[in-house]
Amino acid sequence: MFKKILIANRGEIALRILRTCKELGIPTVAVYSEVDRDSLHVVFADEAVCIGPAPSNQSYLKIPSILSAAQITGADAIHPGYGFLAENAEFSEICADSNIKFIGPSPDSIRKMGDKAFAKETMKKVGVPVVSGSAGVVNDVDEAKKIAAEIGYPVMLKASAGGGGKGMRIVLEESEIEKAFQTAGNEAGAAFSNSALYMEKYVENPRHIEIQVLCDQHGNFYHYGERDCSIQRRHQKLIEESPSPFITNAVRTKMGEAALLGVRSVNYEGAGTIEFLVDKHQNFYFIEMNTRIQVEHPVTEMVRNLDLIKNQILIAAGREIEDKPLDSRGHAIEFRINAEDPDHNFRPSPGQIEYLHFPGGFGVRIDSHVYTDYVVPPNYDSLIAKMIIWGTDRKHAIARARRAFEEFQVEGIKTTIPFHKKVLENEKFINGDFDTSFIDKHININ
Ligand code: ADP
Repeated sequence: MFKKILIANRGEIALRILRTCKELGIPTVAVYSEVDRDSLHVVFADEAVCIGPAPSNQSYLKIPSILSAAQITGADAIHPGYGFLAENAEFSEICADSNIKFIGPSPDSIRKMGDKAFAKETMKKVGVPVVSGSAGVVNDVDEAKKIAAEIGYPVMLKASAGGGGKGMRIVLEESEIEKAFQTAGNEAGAAFSNSALYMEKYVENPRHIEIQVLCDQHGNFYHYGERDCSIQRRHQKLIEESPSPFITNAVRTKMGEAALLGVRSVNYEGAGTIEFLVDKHQNFYFIEMNTRIQVEHPVTEMVRNLDLIKNQILIAAGREIEDKPLDSRGHAIEFRINAEDPDHNFRPSPGQIEYLHFPGGFGVRIDSHVYTDYVVPPNYDSLIAKMIIWGTDRKHAIARARRAFEEFQVEGIKTTIPFHKKVLENEKFINGDFDTSFIDKHININ
């Protein structure tokens, strides 16, 4: 087993990883930027190293600083969490060259399955349906027009280097394509320093349903069922749940098998998520793979009664996966609590938390790094907490979520809590009758 694990991340996920390391008896090293000095991951880690100023390109993305921190402290493994360097093949490679185990897939797997075009080709080859679209990057407007005419409108332009729903545009007809190509390209350039775009057929009113997989070095490829992440704003997930209230058991089985076909074919190692869009007829289409742990992983942990981070660490250490997949039990829903103002177009709301009270009781899990007096810095993702509710069935989980939100108090900053309360009162949500357009159509936000 590893002697010491460095956690190359911040916020709730850094704390989440640290908790598992402690339970495994593995000492931890936190890294932090100057503005994160008072963060809980720094407080609770065995050692902590400041790696630079607030901007992430000078701290959490700065590979030499993170490697020096690992070398100085004698860490022999690095957990990257999600975001930042988690899907950076070069980082994973440099770790290997420095004799530090990157807790995640090989650089080759990240390169292959992290590349949307390659991943789609891989899935297609093993017979998994994929969203039709361009073979790779679309170079200019003329090419975009040509491909759109072939696959048929509506289409979607998407950033090749994409993530977090940025750099995406729906194009309903040819007259809109030129403007969409420019705006999506500009947005992608600003967000990812890469303006390359690709095109897909726009799946109308889809569900976003994804499969969690774990694969070790001993030929065990398991899937742990699905998460339905259809409650999204601007293509970004806000609520995730398992099981999906939409798909039949037969479709569930087929999606799991499809996910495993894909990961087996590239000899994948570690945790990963295979994302699908599902249309109203329950046809499913692969869109992308995330080669890392995801924000919404606790949903699976709650219904499968397992620790995905522990299994990631075991796999990286060359051990077998401990938790074989058992049936899902009960229902879990995760609510993302962001420091954003839902009454003002979800604009960021950083600043000092003047008062904080987390809900508790049976079936309520809070993953969070914040506390009363904590200052939410403006520099990073706005996620301040995740509330994961477990109930015996969906109805029970919804009732429990409502009572938990009554207890949840945050003062000093705006959060997405009022938005979640609205969703929990909505008939369509309660009946499980929704798709990715739910918020636009049914939740009145300014
Ligand atoms: P990102 O990597 O930015 O998260 P994804 O490819 O995972 O991008 O897509 C994010 C979301 O955007 C999906 O969950 C879905 O709501 C929407 N989306 C993406 N591709 C399509 C498509 N071809 N048709 C309809 N919706 C799509």
